Amino acid sequence: MLKIHSLDTFGTHDGPGIRLVIFTQGCQFRCVYCHNPDTQALETKEMKTIETKEIIELLEKERSYFGPCLFAEQKAAGTKDGLPNFGQTGGLTISGGEPTLQATALTELFKECKKYGFNTCLDTCGAIFDQDVKALYDVTDIVLLDVKHIDPTWHQKLTKASNENTLKNAAYREETGKEMWLRYVLVPGWTDQPEYLEAWAKYFAEYKTVKRVEIIPYHELGVFKYKALGRKYELANVKPPSKLEISKAEEIFKKYLGNKVVAV
Ligand code: SF4
Repeated sequence: MLKIHSLDTFGTHDGPGIRLVIFTQGCQFRCVYCHNPDTQALETKEMKTIETKEIIELLEKERSYFGPCLFAEQKAAGTKDGLPNFGQTGGLTISGGEPTLQATALTELFKECKKYGFNTCLDTCGAIFDQDVKALYDVTDIVLLDVKHIDPTWHQKLTKASNENTLKNAAYREETGKEMWLRYVLVPGWTDQPEYLEAWAKYFAEYKTVKRVEIIPYHELGVFKYKALGRKYELANVKPPSKLEISKAEEIFKKYLGNKVVAV
């Protein structure tokens, strides 16, 4: 059973293709730009629970939307880990909140997804690194890892937590040779310092498992939620990055990571 905040049956931003996206409840980070602050508490009155069986039923209803595989390497893979790979692009994404707080339940869910041939993505900030998370990674088709800042001091300021575990998660995924996408939220004045963009991109330049790097421009869509929760919004005076600011960041990332980089 999973503790969840909400779900989106037609997600197009979190992994390849059309996806059922489930947002889990609870997160250890407190990102200043978080647009889902209502997912951060470990439990809330509004929180729901969902069983693996219900998720598989939802996926079955959507199977025809998931479409054929677009990635040559997935097609070529045939079967992976002894489990069937039906070569789909779409599938299930577990996001949050921070999903790895419920790593054991998710490992069971993802194993079940494999039996039915559903592609799985895990969208994580990498806050936790332990045996349970490793086991979850091992049954995840694509890890979407948010590396929010490469500088430890800035990461702490931005998320109120260390980036140590996030980098350990990245290293572990690389060691397993399984696919990973990296995500980076571009926030003017917070995450757009050229020297740190260089350092971030350089850090991952030799990673072979990184197939895509997404620059996600900061937006203000979650601001109203802070008012509703009676919380102060730290970025009240920060505006989304301009096209020029985005393209400057893209240019720096591309120096090291080439055409894997996309601004979404
Ligand atoms: S990791 Fe994600 S859910 Fe957690 S605080 Fe940061 S943006 Fe919000």
